Amino acid sequence: MFTAIVRDVTERKRGEEELRWQATHDPLTGLANRHSVEEFLRLAQINAMEKDEPLSVLLIDIDNFKQFNDDHGHPVGDQVLRLVGNVLQEEVRDVDLAARYGGEELIAVLPGIDLAAGATVAERIRRRIAAARLTRRATGKEIGSITVSIGVAQLQLAESTEAMIERCDRGLYQAKRQGRNRTVTENELEPAPEASVA
Ligand code: GH3
Ligand code: MG
Ligand code: MG
Repeated sequence: MFTAIVRDVTERKRGEEELRWQATHDPLTGLANRHSVEEFLRLAQINAMEKDEPLSVLLIDIDNFKQFNDDHGHPVGDQVLRLVGNVLQEEVRDVDLAARYGGEELIAVLPGIDLAAGATVAERIRRRIAAARLTRRATGKEIGSITVSIGVAQLQLAESTEAMIERCDRGLYQAKRQGRNRTVTENELEPAPEASVA
């Protein structure tokens, strides 16, 4: 009777943990989900301000992924997304957050890390992914490699985390424009083209 109750409580706890995990993680990659990013950033920003420590963010997008899916099929694309997620998780510390931000866009939030150190982490991730030789598990056949582009930004005094991510995004798109498979930090951002009035 007593053991039955204990088992019941244990199972309920496991169920609650499972639900909590599902609410905060992406099932495909096992990384944190976007909802977790918002929460993590909120706390990380408070902490950075209180301790007067830097906080930086990497935004990572797989290059020409649509073409990759078209060439090799969506399930193989899913495996690649998992691989990129694993590399990201392995290259960050336990205190960092690695998450799936959107479809094929991943994010890393790095407390205590400034722009230069963030760029170093980004380059390590980028090189590792570019160096990976992909093979079809089913056939063992080589299917080449993939690359990612990365934008890096550091939180500025009294700005919102959205403003930081916006600069990260600009870095990412500049990396795409400049040929992909590269990291662009906010220090390297080209001035936005002036709006012209016809
Ligand atoms: P770019 O280098 O400019 O980023 O080009 P791209 O083709 O990667 O970018 P685009 O935004 O045109 O396409 C994104 C692709 O990512 C299309 C979509 O099918 C794929 N994608 C998004 N989420 C998933 C996913 O969960 N699994 C797979 N296999 N593909 C995904
Ligand atoms: Mg994209
Ligand atoms: Mg892409």
